[in-house]
Amino acid sequence: VNHEALIDGKAFSADVRQRVAAHVAQLKARGITPGLAVVLVGEDPASEVYVRNKGIQTREAGMNSYEHKLPADTSQDALMALVEQLNADDAVHGILVQLPLPDHLDSEAVLNAIDPAKDVDGFHILNVGLLATGQKAMVACTPLGCLMMLRDRLGDLSGLNAVIVGRSNIVGKPMAQLLLRDSCTVTIAHSRTRDLGEVCRRADILVAAVGRPKMIPGDWIKPGATVIDVGINRIEEGGKTRLVGDVDFDTAQGVAGAITPVPGGVGPMTIACLLANTLTACCRAAGLPEPD
Ligand code: NDP
Repeated sequence: VNHEALIDGKAFSADVRQRVAAHVAQLKARGITPGLAVVLVGEDPASEVYVRNKGIQTREAGMNSYEHKLPADTSQDALMALVEQLNADDAVHGILVQLPLPDHLDSEAVLNAIDPAKDVDGFHILNVGLLATGQKAMVACTPLGCLMMLRDRLGDLSGLNAVIVGRSNIVGKPMAQLLLRDSCTVTIAHSRTRDLGEVCRRADILVAAVGRPKMIPGDWIKPGATVIDVGINRIEEGGKTRLVGDVDFDTAQGVAGAITPVPGGVGPMTIACLLANTLTACCRAAGLPEPD
């Protein structure tokens, strides 16, 4: 492994969390404790791990964590009622409904019922619209973490060719908006894109958010490009399960100028940004200056 090329999301996220914790300590000295409510419906094992980690890191940052675990057969009305209750609760500054929700529930309706000021996931249509029109928004945590790593590595992103593979509402589209805001020339590729390898090879910045293990080989990468691998895929290898990204790390790392590993890249940055968004929401609610 070429260590200079590695973007260490674990170390970077620890820095971000430390800065959040320091700010939280100042707020607590004034009698304000930021609170994050996380709602989990059902028993998806991956979601349970995410929710547990979010709770641990929220508390480690000195914030209150309110975890609401509901059974898989929870009704739409019951879930909406919980969201309303959290919207009205002054101790709750951020609300996160863990996705995916069971099939019988309407995710869009639930996400849009969250008070936009408490929408720390940035999925409410108001925040999506604010971001798209260049106004101050709550920005989705995963793309925000990717942007922070890119700025840290590259400085000014202006004029760079950015290719994002994946067009989901939670990763691909907000990532495109953020990179456009930073004046990249943005291409969004997806399952219907023709000559995907050709498209990827034009990228100075390549963001992979597909959900297909190792689908992007090293020879799709422009030499020296910065590669952000959002994918989290569980595969069986040699009788063991392990996590791999959407990029074939082994062939990519010799070509890329910088690359995030999986695990230890985007994943930890996502949670750090969730804490940062919760802190921001708390400061706004209290009418205090926001952290930068
Ligand atoms: P979605 O399934 O919602 O979106 C996947 C996107 O990839 C779609 O736009 C789809 O295109 C595109 N796609 C699928 N197959 C191909 C293909 N063969 N060639 C090109 N594009 C393709 O996934 P998410 O955006 O929710 O997540 C993507 C990955 O990121 C997953 O592995 C997920 O686990 C991971 N993830 C990681 C997070 C983290 O914290 N690190 C947070 C969120 C997600 P189309 O629209 O045409 O169907």
